Amino acid sequence: MEEKTCPRCHSPVSLMHFYCPTCGKNLKEAPLSTSAAKRVGIYALSLLLPPLGLWPGIKYIRQNDPKVKKIGWIAIILTIISLLVTSWISIGWLNDLNAQLSGQLKQLQNL
Ligand SMILES: [Zn+2]
Repeated sequence: MEEKTCPRCHSPVSLMHFYCPTCGKNLKEAPLSTSAAKRVGIYALSLLLPPLGLWPGIKYIRQNDPKVKKIGWIAIILTIISLLVTSWISIGWLNDLNAQLSGQLKQLQNL
């Protein structure tokens, strides 16, 4: 099994552990970055590829740190906004297509 060391007490811990068995440090929290680049990446993912933004969003919401949670909520809100805009555009496009088709049908009937 792959091993790493605890960032707090440096005792060896398994990658499967959520908490360090020696000092109790939360080991799964560390990889979740709150850097500006990471936030921009998550928000861009939420806006551009809506359903995919939900995964980092949910992952961030489940953290204890309120700062990390906030990033998760923003990602999910952006995902919902993006989905609404996307479906609104698709509905508009479908209505246009529908109008064009029925216009052509009318022309055919008039022939
Ligand atoms: Zn430890």
